[in-house]
Amino acid sequence: TKRLDGKVALCTAAGQGIGRKVAEAFLQAGAKVYASDRDAAKLDGLKAFGIVDTAALDVTDSDAVAAYLKRVDTPDILFNCAGFVHHGTVLDCDEDAWDFSFDLNVKAMHRTISALLPRMVEAGGGSIINMASAASSIKAAPNRYVYMATKAAVIGLTRSVAIDFIKSGIRSNAICPGTIESPSLEGRIEELGKSVGGTEKAKTMFIERQPMGRLGTPEEIAHLAVYLASDESRFTTGTTQVIDGGWSL
Ligand code: NAD
Repeated sequence: TKRLDGKVALCTAAGQGIGRKVAEAFLQAGAKVYASDRDAAKLDGLKAFGIVDTAALDVTDSDAVAAYLKRVDTPDILFNCAGFVHHGTVLDCDEDAWDFSFDLNVKAMHRTISALLPRMVEAGGGSIINMASAASSIKAAPNRYVYMATKAAVIGLTRSVAIDFIKSGIRSNAICPGTIESPSLEGRIEELGKSVGGTEKAKTMFIERQPMGRLGTPEEIAHLAVYLASDESRFTTGTTQVIDGGWSL
């Protein structure tokens, strides 16, 4: 038997990066996977991997999220992965940038959890896994003002759900990665490159801040997600799982 046999898993932002590898790992571990992403073009890759139920879904669209959640099976595993990295200090963040980051990084989790939780409780429980970051209340990183604020909020939200529904069989944990190879990281490296004298220099800076001397991989995050999703972690709830190559040491 496989580790997630008989379980239903739902993943947002599954089109690329960490979400993609986690959705794939859930499938390989035996789960029935519902995978969605805002970008419809990215769904082809999921289908090619063998994920049957793929959907174009923008998690900031409340009506679309509600309609989507109505049609899916009640998940045993809810992986809230969608998130955006805003670059800059408090002085670079206007109200629109603040609202956008909180809507996507935090409120989207409220949308899925509030809609699915009653059904998960009814079904006897489940595992909620929220994507936070080491850059949050755990570790300060330069130019991550609203990003850190949102990811700290994710940790609070995760722990609140954990304590309120612990008697109903719901577990709720946050994953807090360091720097992980992903398509959007390439974009952040290019962005930083503009101010530090080139992409190579910027890449070295991202790598050097990792004490292990390398970036993490989405597969490494997926191993943790499968563990948190499975019954192997049944005694674990309300935690912030730091997986950062020693960045926060
Ligand atoms: P990524 O940023 O490369 O890809 C994100 C995916 O989310 C894309 O497929 C995109 O189409 C989708 N998406 C964007 N907006 C969406 C929306 N409104 N609705 C639905 N989908 C949407 O992936 P990543 O870097 O692996 O990041 C995934 C998550 O992990 C994010 O929450 C991010 O903050 C978090 N994280 C990443 C790192 C890292 O170093 N890569 C570190 C810590 C935390």
